[in-house]
Amino acid sequence: MAIRSINPSTGRLIKEFTPLTEQEIEIKLSLAADCFREYRRFSFEERAGLMFKAADLLENRRDDYAGLISAEMGKTIRDSRAEVEKSAWVCRYYADNAAAFMADEMVATEAKQSFVRYQPIGPVLAVMPWNYPFWQVFRFAAPALMAGNVGLLKHASNVPQSALEIERIFLQAGFPEGAFQTLLIPAGRIAGLTADPRIKAATLTGSEAAGASLAANCGGNLKKTVLELGGSDPYIVLPDADMEKAAATATRARLVNNGQACIAAKRFILHHEIADDFLNRLVAEYGKIRVGDPADESTDLGPLVSSQALEEIRDQVAQCVAQGGTIAFGRDPEELETYKDPDLRGGYYFPPTIITGLTQAAPISKQEIFGPVAMIFRARDLDEAIEIANATEFGLGASAWTGNPENAERLINEIEAGNVFINSMVKSDPRLPFGGIKTSGYGRELSALGLREFTNIKTVWVD
Ligand code: NDP
Repeated sequence: MAIRSINPSTGRLIKEFTPLTEQEIEIKLSLAADCFREYRRFSFEERAGLMFKAADLLENRRDDYAGLISAEMGKTIRDSRAEVEKSAWVCRYYADNAAAFMADEMVATEAKQSFVRYQPIGPVLAVMPWNYPFWQVFRFAAPALMAGNVGLLKHASNVPQSALEIERIFLQAGFPEGAFQTLLIPAGRIAGLTADPRIKAATLTGSEAAGASLAANCGGNLKKTVLELGGSDPYIVLPDADMEKAAATATRARLVNNGQACIAAKRFILHHEIADDFLNRLVAEYGKIRVGDPADESTDLGPLVSSQALEEIRDQVAQCVAQGGTIAFGRDPEELETYKDPDLRGGYYFPPTIITGLTQAAPISKQEIFGPVAMIFRARDLDEAIEIANATEFGLGASAWTGNPENAERLINEIEAGNVFINSMVKSDPRLPFGGIKTSGYGRELSALGLREFTNIKTVWVD
Protein backbone atom coordinates (compact mmCIF):
# COMPACT_ATOMS: atom_id res chain seq x y z
CA MET A 1 0.00 0.00 0.00
CA ALA A 2 1.44 3.38 -1.03
CA ILE A 3 2.05 5.85 1.78
CA ARG A 4 0.01 8.85 0.80
CA SER A 5 -2.63 11.32 1.91
CA ILE A 6 -5.67 11.50 -0.34
CA ASN A 7 -8.41 13.94 0.62
CA PRO A 8 -11.53 11.72 0.89
CA SER A 9 -13.84 14.69 0.37
CA THR A 10 -12.48 15.29 -3.14
CA GLY A 11 -10.54 12.13 -4.00
CA ARG A 12 -7.46 14.23 -4.75
CA LEU A 13 -3.91 13.32 -3.80
CA ILE A 14 -2.43 15.70 -1.21
CA LYS A 15 1.04 14.23 -0.70
CA GLU A 16 2.96 10.99 -1.24
CA PHE A 17 5.86 9.71 0.85
CA THR A 18 8.72 7.31 0.19
CA PRO A 19 8.83 4.43 2.68
CA LEU A 20 11.88 4.15 4.93
CA THR A 21 14.77 1.98 3.74
CA GLU A 22 16.06 -0.93 5.86
CA GLN A 23 19.00 1.24 6.85
CA GLU A 24 16.74 4.08 7.98
CA ILE A 25 14.65 1.67 10.04
CA GLU A 26 17.81 0.33 11.65
CA ILE A 27 18.88 3.84 12.65
CA LYS A 28 15.51 4.48 14.28
CA LEU A 29 15.48 1.16 16.09
CA SER A 30 18.91 1.67 17.58
CA LEU A 31 17.98 5.24 18.54
CA ALA A 32 14.89 3.88 20.34
CA ALA A 33 16.96 1.30 22.24
CA ASP A 34 19.62 3.90 23.19
CA CYS A 35 17.01 6.42 24.21
CA PHE A 36 15.25 3.89 26.45
CA ARG A 37 18.41 3.32 28.50
CA GLU A 38 18.44 7.04 29.39
CA TYR A 39 14.77 7.83 29.38
CA ARG A 40 13.77 5.08 31.79
CA ARG A 41 15.77 6.96 34.46
CA PHE A 42 13.77 10.17 34.05
CA SER A 43 11.70 10.90 37.16
CA PHE A 44 7.91 10.99 36.93
CA GLU A 45 8.09 14.75 37.45
CA GLU A 46 10.40 15.15 34.46
CA ARG A 47 8.23 12.94 32.25
CA ALA A 48 5.07 14.73 33.39
CA GLY A 49 6.60 18.13 32.62
CA LEU A 50 7.19 17.01 29.03
CA MET A 51 3.76 15.42 28.72
CA PHE A 52 2.05 18.61 29.92
CA LYS A 53 3.97 20.49 27.21
CA ALA A 54 2.71 18.02 24.60
CA ALA A 55 -0.84 18.71 25.83
CA ASP A 56 -0.25 22.47 25.57
CA LEU A 57 1.06 22.11 22.02
CA LEU A 58 -2.02 20.11 21.03
CA GLU A 59 -4.32 22.75 22.46
CA ASN A 60 -2.39 25.73 21.10
CA ARG A 61 -2.40 24.33 17.58
CA ARG A 62 -5.75 22.57 17.81
CA ASP A 63 -7.22 24.08 14.66
CA ASP A 64 -4.18 23.27 12.51
CA TYR A 65 -4.18 19.64 13.62
CA ALA A 66 -7.96 19.39 13.24
CA GLY A 67 -7.70 20.69 9.67
CA LEU A 68 -5.04 18.09 8.91
CA ILE A 69 -7.11 15.24 10.36
CA SER A 70 -10.18 16.24 8.34
CA ALA A 71 -8.11 16.61 5.17
CA GLU A 72 -6.46 13.21 5.54
CA MET A 73 -9.39 11.04 6.60
CA GLY A 74 -12.55 13.09 6.14
CA LYS A 75 -14.11 13.45 9.59
CA THR A 76 -16.03 16.63 10.24
CA ILE A 77 -14.01 19.57 11.48
CA ARG A 78 -16.04 19.58 14.72
CA ASP A 79 -15.14 15.92 15.37
CA SER A 80 -11.49 16.63 14.51
CA ARG A 81 -11.26 19.47 17.03
CA ALA A 82 -12.82 17.24 19.68
CA GLU A 83 -10.26 14.56 18.84
CA VAL A 84 -7.34 16.94 19.37
CA GLU A 85 -8.81 18.14 22.67
CA LYS A 86 -9.29 14.57 23.86
CA SER A 87 -5.68 13.79 22.91
CA ALA A 88 -4.55 16.67 25.14
CA TRP A 89 -6.77 15.31 27.93
CA VAL A 90 -5.15 11.85 27.83
CA CYS A 91 -1.68 13.45 28.01
CA ARG A 92 -2.68 15.46 31.10
CA TYR A 93 -4.44 12.50 32.67
CA TYR A 94 -1.32 10.31 32.58
CA ALA A 95 0.99 13.20 33.49
CA ASP A 96 -1.14 13.62 36.63
CA ASN A 97 -1.62 9.94 37.49
CA ALA A 98 1.22 7.76 36.17
CA ALA A 99 3.32 8.03 39.35
CA ALA A 100 0.42 6.76 41.45
CA PHE A 101 -0.37 3.98 38.94
CA MET A 102 3.24 2.78 39.12
CA ALA A 103 3.80 3.20 42.84
CA ASP A 104 5.04 0.12 44.72
CA GLU A 105 2.21 -2.00 46.12
CA MET A 106 3.05 -3.48 49.48
CA VAL A 107 1.77 -7.02 50.12
CA ALA A 108 1.86 -8.56 53.62
CA THR A 109 3.66 -11.96 53.66
CA GLU A 110 6.15 -13.66 56.01
CA ALA A 111 8.98 -11.71 54.29
CA LYS A 112 10.47 -8.64 55.98
CA GLN A 113 9.05 -6.79 53.05
CA SER A 114 7.30 -7.91 49.88
CA PHE A 115 5.82 -5.75 47.21
CA VAL A 116 4.98 -5.29 43.54
CA ARG A 117 7.00 -2.82 41.48
CA TYR A 118 6.00 -1.67 37.99
CA GLN A 119 8.86 -1.00 35.59
CA PRO A 120 9.07 -0.01 31.92
CA ILE A 121 9.99 -2.72 29.42
CA GLY A 122 11.54 -0.82 26.48
CA PRO A 123 10.57 0.10 22.92
CA VAL A 124 6.93 -0.75 22.13
CA LEU A 125 5.60 -0.89 18.57
CA ALA A 126 2.17 0.68 17.96
CA VAL A 127 0.34 -0.21 14.73
CA MET A 128 -2.46 2.30 14.44
CA PRO A 129 -5.49 2.96 12.22
CA TRP A 130 -6.63 6.02 10.33
CA ASN A 131 -10.06 6.50 11.91
CA TYR A 132 -8.85 8.53 14.92
CA PRO A 133 -5.37 9.42 13.65
CA PHE A 134 -4.42 11.50 16.71
CA TRP A 135 -6.50 10.00 19.52
CA GLN A 136 -5.57 6.36 18.88
CA VAL A 137 -1.88 7.27 18.93
CA PHE A 138 -2.02 9.50 22.00
CA ARG A 139 -3.99 6.96 24.00
CA PHE A 140 -1.09 4.57 23.40
CA ALA A 141 1.74 7.09 23.67
CA ALA A 142 0.72 9.00 26.81
CA PRO A 143 0.68 5.96 29.15
CA ALA A 144 3.64 4.30 27.38
CA LEU A 145 5.88 7.35 27.70
CA MET A 146 4.74 8.14 31.24
CA ALA A 147 5.60 4.54 32.21
CA GLY A 148 9.14 5.11 30.91
CA ASN A 149 8.82 3.10 27.71
CA VAL A 150 9.64 4.52 24.28
CA GLY A 151 7.30 4.27 21.30
CA LEU A 152 7.62 3.41 17.62
CA LEU A 153 4.57 4.23 15.52
CA LYS A 154 3.59 2.43 12.33
CA HIS A 155 0.54 4.47 11.41
CA ALA A 156 -1.99 3.61 8.69
CA SER A 157 -0.57 4.35 5.25
CA ASN A 158 -3.24 6.96 4.47
CA VAL A 159 -2.46 9.30 7.40
CA PRO A 160 1.31 9.89 7.09
CA GLN A 161 1.09 13.63 7.75
CA SER A 162 -0.71 13.06 11.05
CA ALA A 163 1.94 10.46 11.94
CA LEU A 164 4.77 12.92 11.29
CA GLU A 165 3.03 15.77 13.16
CA ILE A 166 2.64 13.57 16.24
CA GLU A 167 6.35 12.73 16.20
CA ARG A 168 7.06 16.46 15.94
CA ILE A 169 4.78 17.26 18.90
CA PHE A 170 6.72 14.96 21.21
CA LEU A 171 10.04 16.38 20.02
CA GLN A 172 8.85 19.96 20.42
CA ALA A 173 7.55 19.12 23.89
CA GLY A 174 11.14 18.23 24.77
CA PHE A 175 11.05 14.43 24.88
CA PRO A 176 14.53 13.07 24.04
CA GLU A 177 15.18 12.06 20.46
CA GLY A 178 14.12 8.44 20.08
CA ALA A 179 11.39 8.53 22.76
CA PHE A 180 8.70 8.58 20.11
CA GLN A 181 9.37 7.93 16.44
CA THR A 182 7.21 7.50 13.38
CA LEU A 183 8.16 4.79 10.90
CA LEU A 184 6.74 5.45 7.44
CA ILE A 185 6.60 1.83 6.30
CA PRO A 186 4.02 -0.46 4.67
CA ALA A 187 2.39 -3.21 6.75
CA GLY A 188 4.60 -5.83 5.07
CA ARG A 189 7.57 -4.56 7.08
CA ILE A 190 5.99 -5.15 10.49
CA ALA A 191 6.98 -8.84 10.76
CA GLY A 192 10.66 -7.87 10.55
CA LEU A 193 10.19 -5.35 13.36
CA THR A 194 8.40 -7.74 15.69
CA ALA A 195 11.27 -10.22 15.27
CA ASP A 196 13.82 -7.61 16.27
CA PRO A 197 14.99 -8.16 19.88
CA ARG A 198 14.94 -4.42 20.56
CA ILE A 199 11.13 -4.32 20.19
CA LYS A 200 9.68 -5.67 23.44
CA ALA A 201 5.92 -5.67 22.77
CA ALA A 202 3.31 -4.42 20.32
CA THR A 203 -0.20 -3.03 20.21
CA LEU A 204 -2.57 -2.77 17.27
CA THR A 205 -5.90 -1.12 16.64
CA GLY A 206 -7.57 -2.13 13.39
CA SER A 207 -9.13 -5.10 11.63
CA GLU A 208 -9.17 -8.70 12.90
CA ALA A 209 -6.94 -9.81 10.00
CA ALA A 210 -4.27 -7.25 10.85
CA GLY A 211 -4.55 -8.08 14.57
CA ALA A 212 -4.23 -11.81 13.98
CA SER A 213 -1.21 -11.28 11.76
CA LEU A 214 0.58 -9.07 14.30
CA ALA A 215 -0.30 -11.42 17.17
CA ALA A 216 1.02 -14.44 15.22
CA ASN A 217 4.30 -12.67 14.52
CA CYS A 218 4.66 -11.49 18.09
CA GLY A 219 3.61 -14.90 19.46
CA GLY A 220 6.32 -16.55 17.36
CA ASN A 221 8.79 -14.24 19.05
CA LEU A 222 7.21 -14.58 22.52
CA LYS A 223 6.24 -10.94 22.71
CA LYS A 224 3.16 -9.56 24.34
CA THR A 225 0.41 -7.86 22.32
CA VAL A 226 -2.63 -5.75 23.10
CA LEU A 227 -5.27 -5.77 20.36
CA GLU A 228 -8.23 -3.46 19.85
CA LEU A 229 -10.14 -4.72 16.84
CA GLY A 230 -13.55 -4.37 15.25
CA GLY A 231 -16.97 -4.31 16.81
CA SER A 232 -20.60 -4.71 15.87
CA ASP A 233 -21.97 -3.01 18.93
CA PRO A 234 -25.61 -3.51 19.89
CA TYR A 235 -27.83 -0.61 20.94
CA ILE A 236 -30.76 -2.05 22.89
CA VAL A 237 -33.87 -0.02 23.62
CA LEU A 238 -36.50 -1.29 26.09
CA PRO A 239 -40.01 0.14 26.60
CA ASP A 240 -39.07 1.68 29.98
CA ALA A 241 -36.32 3.85 28.40
CA ASP A 242 -36.35 7.62 27.87
CA MET A 243 -37.34 7.30 24.22
CA GLU A 244 -36.52 10.85 23.18
CA LYS A 245 -33.00 10.72 24.58
CA ALA A 246 -32.43 7.19 23.27
CA ALA A 247 -33.43 8.19 19.72
CA ALA A 248 -31.43 11.44 19.68
CA THR A 249 -28.33 9.67 21.03
CA ALA A 250 -28.76 6.76 18.59
CA THR A 251 -28.07 9.00 15.61
CA ARG A 252 -24.82 10.28 17.08
CA ALA A 253 -23.86 6.77 18.28
CA ARG A 254 -24.16 5.41 14.73
CA LEU A 255 -22.89 8.37 12.70
CA VAL A 256 -19.98 9.49 14.89
CA ASN A 257 -16.79 9.72 12.85
CA ASN A 258 -18.80 9.32 9.62
CA GLY A 259 -19.90 5.92 10.92
CA GLN A 260 -16.31 4.62 11.10
CA ALA A 261 -15.74 3.93 14.78
CA CYS A 262 -15.11 0.53 16.33
CA ILE A 263 -17.51 1.42 19.18
CA ALA A 264 -20.19 2.98 17.00
CA ALA A 265 -23.64 1.47 17.57
CA LYS A 266 -24.21 -0.78 14.57
CA ARG A 267 -27.13 -3.04 15.45
CA PHE A 268 -30.23 -1.42 16.94
CA ILE A 269 -32.21 -4.00 18.89
CA LEU A 270 -35.66 -2.67 19.69
CA HIS A 271 -38.27 -4.18 21.99
CA HIS A 272 -41.32 -4.81 19.80
CA GLU A 273 -43.54 -2.56 21.94
CA ILE A 274 -41.53 0.57 21.09
CA ALA A 275 -39.93 -0.53 17.80
CA ASP A 276 -42.19 1.50 15.47
CA ASP A 277 -42.09 4.60 17.65
CA PHE A 278 -38.28 4.43 17.95
CA LEU A 279 -37.81 3.82 14.24
CA ASN A 280 -39.98 6.83 13.37
CA ARG A 281 -37.89 8.99 15.68
CA LEU A 282 -34.65 7.63 14.21
CA VAL A 283 -35.84 8.28 10.65
CA ALA A 284 -36.74 11.85 11.66
CA GLU A 285 -33.26 12.36 13.17
CA TYR A 286 -31.55 10.87 10.12
CA GLY A 287 -33.56 13.24 7.93
CA LYS A 288 -31.84 16.20 9.62
CA ILE A 289 -28.31 14.98 8.85
CA ARG A 290 -26.37 17.26 6.51
CA VAL A 291 -23.94 15.36 4.32
CA GLY A 292 -21.15 17.58 3.02
CA ASP A 293 -17.60 18.84 2.98
CA PRO A 294 -16.02 17.95 6.36
CA ALA A 295 -14.27 21.34 6.41
CA ASP A 296 -17.68 23.06 6.49
CA GLU A 297 -18.79 23.88 10.06
CA SER A 298 -22.39 22.89 9.35
CA THR A 299 -21.63 19.39 8.05
CA ASP A 300 -22.83 16.45 10.15
CA LEU A 301 -21.55 13.62 7.97
CA GLY A 302 -18.46 13.69 5.78
CA PRO A 303 -17.17 11.10 3.31
CA LEU A 304 -15.92 7.60 3.95
CA VAL A 305 -12.17 7.25 4.17
CA SER A 306 -11.40 5.76 0.76
CA SER A 307 -12.80 4.53 -2.53
CA GLN A 308 -12.37 0.93 -1.26
CA ALA A 309 -14.40 1.76 1.86
CA LEU A 310 -17.12 3.25 -0.34
CA GLU A 311 -17.20 0.12 -2.51
CA GLU A 312 -17.40 -2.08 0.56
CA ILE A 313 -20.35 -0.19 2.06
CA ARG A 314 -22.21 -0.24 -1.26
CA ASP A 315 -21.64 -3.97 -1.40
CA GLN A 316 -22.77 -4.51 2.20
CA VAL A 317 -25.98 -2.53 1.66
CA ALA A 318 -26.67 -4.58 -1.49
CA GLN A 319 -26.15 -7.73 0.60
CA CYS A 320 -28.60 -6.42 3.23
CA VAL A 321 -31.26 -6.03 0.55
CA ALA A 322 -30.45 -9.39 -1.08
CA GLN A 323 -30.73 -11.10 2.32
CA GLY A 324 -34.20 -9.79 3.12
CA GLY A 325 -33.54 -6.25 4.38
CA THR A 326 -35.50 -3.15 3.42
CA ILE A 327 -34.07 0.34 3.11
CA ALA A 328 -36.25 2.24 5.58
CA PHE A 329 -34.24 5.42 5.09
CA GLY A 330 -31.75 6.26 2.38
CA ARG A 331 -30.98 8.69 -0.37
CA ASP A 332 -29.70 8.21 -3.86
CA PRO A 333 -25.98 9.18 -3.63
CA GLU A 334 -26.36 11.15 -6.85
CA GLU A 335 -28.93 13.35 -5.19
CA LEU A 336 -26.57 14.41 -2.41
CA GLU A 337 -25.41 18.03 -2.44
CA THR A 338 -21.85 16.74 -2.60
CA TYR A 339 -22.59 15.12 -5.94
CA LYS A 340 -23.89 18.38 -7.37
CA ASP A 341 -20.73 20.24 -6.30
CA PRO A 342 -18.03 19.59 -8.96
CA ASP A 343 -15.32 20.00 -6.32
CA LEU A 344 -16.75 17.24 -4.13
CA ARG A 345 -18.06 14.89 -6.80
CA GLY A 346 -14.91 12.75 -6.61
CA GLY A 347 -15.33 12.34 -2.83
CA TYR A 348 -16.31 9.08 -1.15
CA TYR A 349 -19.73 10.10 0.17
CA PHE A 350 -22.35 7.59 1.22
CA PRO A 351 -25.76 8.72 2.53
CA PRO A 352 -27.01 7.84 6.00
CA THR A 353 -29.05 4.66 5.65
CA ILE A 354 -31.37 2.60 7.85
CA ILE A 355 -32.04 -1.08 7.12
CA THR A 356 -34.98 -2.96 8.63
CA GLY A 357 -36.30 -6.50 8.23
CA LEU A 358 -33.05 -8.45 8.59
CA THR A 359 -33.07 -11.54 10.80
CA GLN A 360 -30.26 -13.32 12.59
CA ALA A 361 -30.19 -15.83 9.74
CA ALA A 362 -28.85 -13.18 7.36
CA PRO A 363 -25.04 -13.53 7.23
CA ILE A 364 -24.68 -9.74 6.79
CA SER A 365 -26.18 -9.22 10.25
CA LYS A 366 -22.98 -10.74 11.69
CA GLN A 367 -20.65 -8.38 9.82
CA GLU A 368 -19.29 -5.05 10.99
CA ILE A 369 -20.55 -2.23 8.76
CA PHE A 370 -17.93 0.54 8.95
CA GLY A 371 -20.05 3.42 7.65
CA PRO A 372 -23.32 5.34 8.24
CA VAL A 373 -25.64 2.33 7.98
CA ALA A 374 -27.91 1.32 10.88
CA MET A 375 -29.34 -2.21 11.01
CA ILE A 376 -32.61 -2.54 12.94
CA PHE A 377 -33.73 -5.73 14.71
CA ARG A 378 -36.87 -6.40 16.72
CA ALA A 379 -36.90 -8.39 19.96
CA ARG A 380 -39.85 -10.07 21.69
CA ASP A 381 -38.50 -9.39 25.17
CA LEU A 382 -35.34 -8.73 27.14
CA ASP A 383 -34.16 -12.35 26.77
CA GLU A 384 -34.32 -12.15 23.03
CA ALA A 385 -32.69 -8.71 22.98
CA ILE A 386 -29.70 -10.09 24.89
CA GLU A 387 -29.58 -13.15 22.64
CA ILE A 388 -29.45 -10.97 19.50
CA ALA A 389 -26.88 -8.66 21.12
CA ASN A 390 -24.60 -11.64 21.78
CA ALA A 391 -25.13 -13.29 18.38
CA THR A 392 -21.88 -11.96 16.98
CA GLU A 393 -18.22 -12.90 17.10
CA PHE A 394 -17.44 -9.37 18.29
CA GLY A 395 -17.53 -8.20 21.90
CA LEU A 396 -16.35 -4.62 22.10
CA GLY A 397 -19.10 -2.34 23.44
CA ALA A 398 -22.83 -2.24 24.03
CA SER A 399 -25.28 0.52 24.78
CA ALA A 400 -28.58 -0.34 26.45
CA TRP A 401 -31.48 1.94 27.37
CA THR A 402 -33.80 1.17 30.26
CA GLY A 403 -35.26 2.95 33.27
CA ASN A 404 -35.49 -0.26 35.27
CA PRO A 405 -32.47 -1.09 37.49
CA GLU A 406 -33.22 -4.83 37.38
CA ASN A 407 -33.16 -4.83 33.60
CA ALA A 408 -29.96 -2.79 33.71
CA GLU A 409 -28.34 -5.34 36.03
CA ARG A 410 -29.21 -8.21 33.69
CA LEU A 411 -27.83 -6.32 30.70
CA ILE A 412 -24.60 -5.50 32.55
CA ASN A 413 -24.16 -9.15 33.55
CA GLU A 414 -25.24 -10.93 30.40
CA ILE A 415 -23.97 -8.86 27.48
CA GLU A 416 -20.73 -10.28 26.14
CA ALA A 417 -18.64 -7.14 25.68
CA GLY A 418 -15.69 -5.29 27.16
CA ASN A 419 -17.81 -2.17 27.73
CA VAL A 420 -21.48 -1.84 28.67
CA PHE A 421 -23.03 1.63 28.83
CA ILE A 422 -26.53 2.02 30.29
CA ASN A 423 -28.53 5.04 29.06
CA SER A 424 -25.49 6.43 27.25
CA MET A 425 -23.64 5.80 24.02
CA VAL A 426 -20.35 3.90 24.30
CA LYS A 427 -17.32 6.15 24.54
CA SER A 428 -13.72 5.84 25.61
CA ASP A 429 -12.54 7.81 28.63
CA PRO A 430 -8.93 8.00 29.91
CA ARG A 431 -10.15 7.20 33.45
CA LEU A 432 -11.77 3.88 32.47
CA PRO A 433 -10.28 0.75 30.89
CA PHE A 434 -11.12 0.23 27.24
CA GLY A 435 -10.96 -2.97 25.18
CA GLY A 436 -12.90 -5.98 23.98
CA ILE A 437 -13.47 -9.69 24.27
CA LYS A 438 -14.10 -12.40 21.63
CA THR A 439 -12.74 -11.28 18.22
CA SER A 440 -12.75 -7.63 19.30
CA GLY A 441 -9.35 -8.23 20.85
CA TYR A 442 -7.73 -8.52 24.25
CA GLY A 443 -5.86 -6.48 26.78
CA ARG A 444 -6.91 -3.02 27.87
CA GLU A 445 -6.00 0.53 27.03
CA LEU A 446 -6.47 3.63 29.21
CA SER A 447 -6.76 3.90 33.03
CA ALA A 448 -4.18 2.28 35.34
CA LEU A 449 -4.78 -1.10 33.65
CA GLY A 450 -3.83 0.25 30.21
CA LEU A 451 -0.60 1.76 31.51
CA ARG A 452 0.40 -1.48 33.25
CA GLU A 453 -0.06 -3.63 30.11
CA PHE A 454 3.42 -2.66 28.99
CA THR A 455 5.25 -2.87 32.29
CA ASN A 456 7.23 -5.53 34.06
CA ILE A 457 5.09 -6.35 37.08
CA LYS A 458 8.00 -7.26 39.28
CA THR A 459 7.54 -9.25 42.48
CA VAL A 460 10.05 -8.21 45.16
CA TRP A 461 10.75 -10.23 48.30
CA VAL A 462 13.20 -8.92 50.92
CA ASP A 463 14.25 -10.97 53.93
P1 NDP B 1 -6.35 -2.39 8.86
O1 NDP B 1 -6.53 -3.28 10.00
O2 NDP B 1 -5.91 -2.97 7.57
O3 NDP B 1 -5.29 -1.24 9.25
C1 NDP B 1 -4.99 -0.86 10.59
C2 NDP B 1 -3.47 -0.80 10.77
O4 NDP B 1 -2.94 -2.13 10.63
C3 NDP B 1 -2.78 0.03 9.70
O5 NDP B 1 -1.66 0.67 10.28
C4 NDP B 1 -2.33 -1.00 8.69
O6 NDP B 1 -1.26 -0.57 7.89
C5 NDP B 1 -1.94 -2.15 9.59
N1 NDP B 1 -1.96 -3.47 8.97
C6 NDP B 1 -2.63 -3.85 7.87
N2 NDP B 1 -2.39 -5.16 7.61
C7 NDP B 1 -1.56 -5.60 8.58
C8 NDP B 1 -0.94 -6.84 8.86
N3 NDP B 1 -1.12 -7.91 8.10
N4 NDP B 1 -0.13 -6.94 9.95
C9 NDP B 1 0.08 -5.88 10.74
N5 NDP B 1 -0.48 -4.66 10.51
C10 NDP B 1 -1.28 -4.52 9.46
O7 NDP B 1 -7.66 -1.55 8.69
P2 NDP B 1 -8.28 -0.91 7.35
O8 NDP B 1 -7.93 0.50 7.35
O9 NDP B 1 -7.94 -1.68 6.14
O10 NDP B 1 -9.82 -1.11 7.67
C11 NDP B 1 -10.42 -2.37 7.44
C12 NDP B 1 -11.45 -2.65 8.50
O11 NDP B 1 -10.80 -2.72 9.78
C13 NDP B 1 -12.50 -1.60 8.69
O12 NDP B 1 -13.53 -1.72 7.76
C14 NDP B 1 -12.94 -1.88 10.11
O13 NDP B 1 -13.82 -2.96 10.12
C15 NDP B 1 -11.67 -2.28 10.79
N6 NDP B 1 -11.04 -1.18 11.50
C16 NDP B 1 -11.26 -1.09 12.82
C17 NDP B 1 -10.73 -0.03 13.52
C18 NDP B 1 -10.93 0.09 14.97
O14 NDP B 1 -10.92 1.20 15.49
N7 NDP B 1 -11.05 -1.00 15.70
C19 NDP B 1 -9.96 1.03 12.87
C20 NDP B 1 -9.77 0.82 11.47
C21 NDP B 1 -10.31 -0.25 10.84
P3 NDP B 1 -1.52 -0.08 6.37
O15 NDP B 1 -2.41 1.11 6.47
O16 NDP B 1 -0.16 0.23 5.88
O17 NDP B 1 -2.18 -1.23 5.66
